Amino acid sequence: MEAQIVTFLFDNTYARLPDRFHTRLPPTPVKAPNLVQFNTGLAGELGLDAEALQTPEGVSILAGNKIPATADPIAMVYAGHQFGHWVSRLGDGRAILLGELIDRNGVRYDIQLKGAGRTPYSRTGDGRAALGPVLREYIVSEAMTALGIPSSRALAAVTTGERVFRETILPGAILTRVAKGHVRVGTFQYFASRQDTEALSVLADYVIARHYPAASEKKNGYLALLDAVIEAQAELIARWMHVGFIHGVMNTDNMSIAGETIDYGPCAFLDDYHPGTVLSSVDQGGRYAYGNQPTIAHWNVIRFAQCLLPLLGREDAAVAIAQDAVNKFPRLYQSAWLAGMRDKLGLHIDQEGDLELAESLCKLMAAAGADFTNTFRALCDATRPGHGEASLRENFSNKGAFDAWLARWRSRLQTEPTDDEARVASMRRANPAFIPRNHRVEEVIQAAMRGDFAPFETLLHVLSRPYEEPADYAHYTKPPKPEEVVHATFCGT
Ligand code: AMP
Ligand code: MG
Repeated sequence: MEAQIVTFLFDNTYARLPDRFHTRLPPTPVKAPNLVQFNTGLAGELGLDAEALQTPEGVSILAGNKIPATADPIAMVYAGHQFGHWVSRLGDGRAILLGELIDRNGVRYDIQLKGAGRTPYSRTGDGRAALGPVLREYIVSEAMTALGIPSSRALAAVTTGERVFRETILPGAILTRVAKGHVRVGTFQYFASRQDTEALSVLADYVIARHYPAASEKKNGYLALLDAVIEAQAELIARWMHVGFIHGVMNTDNMSIAGETIDYGPCAFLDDYHPGTVLSSVDQGGRYAYGNQPTIAHWNVIRFAQCLLPLLGREDAAVAIAQDAVNKFPRLYQSAWLAGMRDKLGLHIDQEGDLELAESLCKLMAAAGADFTNTFRALCDATRPGHGEASLRENFSNKGAFDAWLARWRSRLQTEPTDDEARVASMRRANPAFIPRNHRVEEVIQAAMRGDFAPFETLLHVLSRPYEEPADYAHYTKPPKPEEVVHATFCGT
């Protein structure tokens, strides 16, 4: 027997769910796999042999050409609202879940190949992914993780040696995506729309056991699940807002029940702050604009709550219970947002007026088109009069109004017990210096498409420590020059 050097200890709980949850099928082999990125740190966390995975045998697994003995490859089925329109069946059209691994901390992760070929859910798609979007997801998902925001991760990117046809002909690639789970609001919607209450309860029990075990101890475990998902979403979206992240396609099928950021497509970060910013080329109506994200998340959790109705109790009671739960979303979101804004502003005690203080800074930034990331980072150096005003004021055309805000904030800081040094240090942990700015992401992807991965790797490295600010990387904090601004991002599907 051939010696197997690459070992995966998969344990495939989702594949063991009833047949109507998925389709069992292997990835479609590709012509000439070539490993272009590998995440050694993540491999280590997952207890994988990083060296073995980079051998030809390992790469053939990452390309879907070889199936590890313990894998049980499946495509998951789901439905969803896309841009508000109901689609009764979606599912993994180009992703294959190889299996689940338990990491060093005992956490279970899905190992999925994105771009692994056609499945029964591909509809008109080719089941493949292009190198550009694969690299975009790779770098943005790793940057989100380094920012401390729950996110799927990237273990590897492999080119396939095949071409994919989009608006143009592009090199094909496969991303090995790692996530706490891939159950979506749309997965619940799929079974709810078919009135398959038995499947709904199997799915809900599965999610409780895997992601929200505390819910199983509650009297109404399904209500506890609903509450937990609502809370996780409120927290997640607040975290996005704190760093200026725009997901771009917040369809219910792209909303993870585990509360992680998943399905990176035409996502982007704000440079200058405008709540109405839309960068996705497919979001014509601006449904998923930066400032709409909390409202959309609320809309999505209402869809989730509707799915759970048959499990929550008798008809009228269930509706009332669900209504109560979803009505909490705006308050939960606002309190998560405010907590994060307090951290960003160096405030540790709660005081009346803090919400207004944070909101008025946002209004000033919007009016001036101030750079979101750099404004907050500059505040870290401007906690005391006579310090850091110059570089901060540069961002604001409305200088009088900004000066008044600055004075108000500084006097608010006087009411805090923290000493200034500790405050500055904590503010620096809440206000990143580095975010994946669009123009940089585009630039390194373009270089990679020409075969030069060095700029991609440098940017990945810079983004891996976003709260530090080594002098040699200072230029990565710069907003784009007018000619560098990226006006639209593409999902490339
Ligand atoms: P997304 O907007 O990338 O989250 O995808 C929405 C739906 O389209 C999902 O069901 C995907 O699996 C499917 N899909 C996206 N791209 C492709 C593709 N190239 N081939 C087949 N299915 C795809
Ligand atoms: Mg999706």
